[in-house]
Amino acid sequence: MNYDEKETLPISRNEFAELEIFKNIQFEKLAGFLLPCKTKEVEQGTTLISPDNPNIDLVIVLRGSLEVKLESDGGTFTSTIEQGHCAGEMSIFDSIPPSATVSAKENSKVLLIPSDIARAMLSASHELCLNFLQIMSQRIRSNNKIVCEEQYHIRRMEEYAKVDPMTGLHNRRWLEEMYTREMARSNKGNIMLTAFMLDIDHFKNVNDTYGHLAGDQVLISVAQTLTRSLRPSDMPVRYGGEEFTVFLPGTSTKNAKIIAERIRRDMENMSISLPDGNIIQVTVSIGFAERVDNDTVASLIDRADKALYHAKQNGRNRVCQNLGDGKMQLLKTGT
Ligand code: GH3
Ligand code: MG
Ligand code: MG
Repeated sequence: MNYDEKETLPISRNEFAELEIFKNIQFEKLAGFLLPCKTKEVEQGTTLISPDNPNIDLVIVLRGSLEVKLESDGGTFTSTIEQGHCAGEMSIFDSIPPSATVSAKENSKVLLIPSDIARAMLSASHELCLNFLQIMSQRIRSNNKIVCEEQYHIRRMEEYAKVDPMTGLHNRRWLEEMYTREMARSNKGNIMLTAFMLDIDHFKNVNDTYGHLAGDQVLISVAQTLTRSLRPSDMPVRYGGEEFTVFLPGTSTKNAKIIAERIRRDMENMSISLPDGNIIQVTVSIGFAERVDNDTVASLIDRADKALYHAKQNGRNRVCQNLGDGKMQLLKTGT
């Protein structure tokens, strides 16, 4: 497009040359298009683009920077548009109202190019198209990075919410999800599955005698010993208070007995150093049950819990298997 050098352009040749969006483009090639365009000094906080107003201008930052705020139910996403870059490009192309609010991050100067002129400029300059695509690619890349980082943090938070901070074991929330999944898998494939319910014997005495911090240390030590006594595929959980559950996928009754008895013995032989220097020992009682057809997590845990109760009733520091139909079998200590 021709232009008369004497007419006043909104930006100088030097300003043009410094803009990222116009790099490698001859000033003469686009200057004519810029004649009807306006520049604007905007104070920090001034809104330039908002979802309430259909956007009709491409905004190019001549000086300063803009802040983009995308608000949705999921929270606020913020990014910055630096000098030489543009805003509003999506709305002028897809004619959909802007999805974000763009405001001046600091006192800034912008060039406003009406959408029809912006389109005409892009048609006239191959280089402008390339610059535009480059700026858009950079923006998409950096936004993708932010989204990925957010996702990572969300996942981390979700994981934290499923872990008991004191013992490092998973908690009930994790149990609900993972045990349900494991139960469905075992029911579907008719895979053996054993549930343990473990409870520290006379734990209240520990708290009463040595204090709550000592009790906490006992819980941590019991959790560590429990984890050490299991395979990585087993699923220990702090069920609540001083009770722990374990799901042992693919474990036969014979092996379940061996594992439960080994855990009982490991706990009995464990010396726990308390914060006050005392060294104490505790015992645990364990009840276990095997999965049967159409079991649910609740029904299997309930049978293991009944076996635990039986172990408690019969002297504690014992392992008891729930054989079903109300029949219990106490394991001989030392088997
Ligand atoms: P039993 O052999 O019948 O299981 O007796 P118990 O004393 O172990 O059982 P009881 O249910 O009477 O007491 C459990 C105690 O566990 C009571 C509660 O204060 C304590 N407790 C629960 N959670 C925590 C915890 O996070 N830290 C500490 N220190 N104590 C806890
Ligand atoms: Mg107890
Ligand atoms: Mg208890």
